[in-house]
Amino acid sequence: MLEIHQFPCLSDNYGYLVHDTASGETTCIDTPDAAEYLKQAEAKGWKITQIWNTHWHPDHAGGNEAIKAATGCAISGPAEVTKIAPLDRELTADDTVALGDHVAKVIDVSGHTNGHIAFFMPDDGVAFVGDSVFALGCGRMFEGEPQQFWGSLSRIKTLPPETMLYCAHEYTASNAKFASHADPDNAALAAYVAEIAAKRANDEPTVPAQLGRELATNPFLRADDPAMQQRWGGATPAETFAALRSAKDNF
Ligand SMILES: [Zn+2]
Repeated sequence: MLEIHQFPCLSDNYGYLVHDTASGETTCIDTPDAAEYLKQAEAKGWKITQIWNTHWHPDHAGGNEAIKAATGCAISGPAEVTKIAPLDRELTADDTVALGDHVAKVIDVSGHTNGHIAFFMPDDGVAFVGDSVFALGCGRMFEGEPQQFWGSLSRIKTLPPETMLYCAHEYTASNAKFASHADPDNAALAAYVAEIAAKRANDEPTVPAQLGRELATNPFLRADDPAMQQRWGGATPAETFAALRSAKDNF
């Protein structure tokens, strides 16, 4: 059985420890805060054996060195991680990594950074998407181009709709404000926004998010919808995505 332990760390990151009960293996999904990861693993009684990095940013790979020093774990991630942190295995699209019998497929979700990857575990129905897509939002386009980022979101869109997306930050309340501005006549979005407000009022996480619901409500995943193209302009989905991303940056 696969167990996912989610916990807040740094100011608004989510940490994830993923544990396979059969093999006893445990992987860190990114390493925003080494001390917190080690503490959480100890509390669960889990020994960290791996790290899977999504991208090179310090709030994702900054704890690699300390966690490896403490546990001797093996680190897998995109080559860009070596800019700031150690890596044992470089991953590219369509590679796989495994936690016991649980396989994760590497998906290219670049755009936030040029090497950003996601880990999709088809048999478990979960995807760890880092800063590529968020509940009702997507990552800032620090390194990539609109066509590239839209290609990444298009790959996420093709995953089974019941897939649970584990993104790396609790940005949902802020994203919901922009989504409501971007797509004001969307009833499914309005219902989702109300649920999010209630959860945040109780200090509950809004992550993970179900892909199917995001497909109906997340403006960035809907840049190929004719209604969104009409409202936001753009002759192609990538151009509509670019208009939305730019508007959000200045919202
Ligand atoms: Zn990032």
